[in-house]
Amino acid sequence: MKNLNRYRADRLNWFSADGREQRIRDYLTLANSLVWQRQASFFAAAALASFYFDPVSVFACYGVVVLTEMLDQILSRRADAWDGQDPVVGRKILTRIFLNTIVSALAISVFIINIAVQQTSGGHFTPLFFLFSASVFAAMYNSQLIGVLLVRLSIYGFAFLYIAFLDVIRYSPPISSPIWLEFFTIIFVLYFIIDISVKFYLSYQDRLEQMKLIEEENERTKAALEIKTQFLSTVSHELRTPLTSIIGSLELVNNGVLGEVPEKARPVLGIAARNGRQLANLINDLLDLQKIETGEIAFQFEPIDANDLVQEAVEATAGYADKLGITVSFVPCTEPPRITGDRSRLIQVMNNLLSNALKFSDDGATVRVSVEARDSRILIAVEDSGVGIPEGSEDRVFGKFSQVDSSDVRKVGGTGLGLNITKQIVERHNATINYVSELGVGSTFYLEFARQADKEDTSEIIETVAQVA
Ligand code: ADP
Repeated sequence: MKNLNRYRADRLNWFSADGREQRIRDYLTLANSLVWQRQASFFAAAALASFYFDPVSVFACYGVVVLTEMLDQILSRRADAWDGQDPVVGRKILTRIFLNTIVSALAISVFIINIAVQQTSGGHFTPLFFLFSASVFAAMYNSQLIGVLLVRLSIYGFAFLYIAFLDVIRYSPPISSPIWLEFFTIIFVLYFIIDISVKFYLSYQDRLEQMKLIEEENERTKAALEIKTQFLSTVSHELRTPLTSIIGSLELVNNGVLGEVPEKARPVLGIAARNGRQLANLINDLLDLQKIETGEIAFQFEPIDANDLVQEAVEATAGYADKLGITVSFVPCTEPPRITGDRSRLIQVMNNLLSNALKFSDDGATVRVSVEARDSRILIAVEDSGVGIPEGSEDRVFGKFSQVDSSDVRKVGGTGLGLNITKQIVERHNATINYVSELGVGSTFYLEFARQADKEDTSEIIETVAQVA
């Protein structure tokens, strides 16, 4: 058993070492994609030749070529089904490709030689041109498997030489005869075909090398990303637990539960609690971002009334609004604004938009939230009359860890992750997020969802959105 495994592993190496599996696939894929082009030229050549030469032998050869084409098609399907794991299958496919090549190249050569033999005067332009085209075609499209290319070109080379010697032997002409001119031209053409075959082969080889390098680079990037994600997740988890207890303890102290807090200590403890909460927000955002990016978050799609959703978010942020002395007004939609989404994730989206609108507004300002139905869309808008966002800042607004104002002029805290997470959540709902803003005047963030027509359509829409997500 051990020996068998080693044998298999060796054979596998033999296949993967020089990208043979890839070569087989590339060869068959290309052969497949050019099948109609080849059929058209084979048929045209056969039809033309049958008019001027013996049609029976012409179509007999044509039939054999078509047969090998069909065998190639079957092979191509077998290669598609091959998972690349079993080298025995790979070897069988390769052997069949070789056999098909020999039969097809022989049939094409016999077809061409047959025409040349029937021509007794005026040179062999037609058969030589057919042969030249077939050779160039092979040089261009068979360079994935050098053995197959060599077999085909050797057979064509033999046909070239046969035609070259045909008239020389038939007529024994003097060296000044055009028959010798044709002979030397054929030798020149043969050199040309070998030259372009080598060029095509080397360029395919180059491409394979490049692909291998890109793949290796890709693997390295993926591994680095994996380590980064793992690191981030571990650190965030490890930080969150002690931080929660620090914040809890500070709140107990600040609320006077553990006794009177000395006047002098109050501001310091207040700052500590605020910074603790800020740090906790950052950790939560990091964990969220990582979960969204790795697809760990499972979205639970359900029918939602956008009015209810927004109402809930407005209530959730009411305490924060009060603290900042800002009024939040809500204009609900008059028709039932049904959408489909993950309720808790959409609340998170709304909380982020609302808290941004609040924190970037001045004391005494009003933040307006509205839900509107527009044709087949539901539009949720969060409008503030705060600091505004300079033109062309979309990348920074929705980017990671990016904030529009520089940190030294910044009055409000934040992680610079909220809107990035928000955008990713919104996009997983097949919805959009945009904003319009003017510096010093205010900003309005819009969410646009597909409107759900009525309750019966719910399951279908949930399915669609779930598929997109
Ligand atoms: P942060 O945690 O910094 O608020 P976000 O990702 O939520 O991060 O927002 C990114 C940046 O976009 C903010 O730092 C701010 O510069 C800008 N921004 C977002 N919402 C508003 C708003 N309503 N008014 C002004 N600027 C905003």
